[in-house]
Amino acid sequence: SKARLFDEKNDVKTTFKDVAGLEGAKEEIQEIVEFLKNPEKFTNLGGKIPKGALLVGPPGTGKTLLAKAVAGEAQVPFFSLSGSDFVEMFVGVGASRVRDLFKQAKEKSPAIIFIDEIDAVGRARGKNSMSGGNDERENTLNQLLTEMDGFGSNSNVIVLAATNRADVLDKALMRAGRFDRQIFVDLPDIRERAEIFKVHLAPLKKVEGLDLDFLAKQTPGFSGADIANVCNEAALIAARNNKTAVDKQDFLDAVDRIVGGLEKKNKIIT
Ligand code: ATP
Repeated sequence: SKARLFDEKNDVKTTFKDVAGLEGAKEEIQEIVEFLKNPEKFTNLGGKIPKGALLVGPPGTGKTLLAKAVAGEAQVPFFSLSGSDFVEMFVGVGASRVRDLFKQAKEKSPAIIFIDEIDAVGRARGKNSMSGGNDERENTLNQLLTEMDGFGSNSNVIVLAATNRADVLDKALMRAGRFDRQIFVDLPDIRERAEIFKVHLAPLKKVEGLDLDFLAKQTPGFSGADIANVCNEAALIAARNNKTAVDKQDFLDAVDRIVGGLEKKNKIIT
């Protein structure tokens, strides 16, 4: 039986309005939306559509969300997989899985391929070859490079990949015609945090007049994922206390709880 390597979504509902803040990144990636919507407009003039872009930034800042929004905006299929799945689950078959993935995406093009945690496959080659190296990973990486080179200029598949460790990536990945564009996706500033709160407060039953700027001020260093987490936790706390609407105190308690969690995580790391 064939384990599933990648997800395919043909009706992505996520759009740029689901991605709060990140104005610069959205502006840069808008170009890719335009290519996907109307590839001929560009190729007719002899231009080559880019093959890939690397989304670089800390965990939980919306890289996956942004990639999905590109598919949703352009209304194209979204093929996604995680680099760590590759390396952990598909011993001996990584390269052939990469081939399958590109074949399927080309059949449905224009399309997006999204590779999360590309560093798991894309780390510089030949660094840990004491024990003969990690051949499996290198084969997979080589196949990925081959596929990107072999695309042909009008295959209309764009590969987006995410990492928080651009520094460890094999330089071959960044060469022209591969991931030759980097888009930075940073932690949100205070204004962006207020916007992210707005998105994640929308589905909650809450008291009137919650102050987004106040909430943003309580959450320095939080990622978008942390803020989504705060909003959900606040709703759970309110429910536990038999409230009929989530109030300011529930948010403060949720922030406390998440800060506690973040501190613990950091302690384990350092
Ligand atoms: P990782 O590097 O850990 O894979 P990521 O950068 O891909 O993280 P996402 O998976 O896109 O982050 O974010 C996780 C969740 O956090 C999103 O599904 C969304 O709910 C929320 N989130 C993150 N960033 C934003 C944002 N800018 N606007 C709205 N929601 C956000």
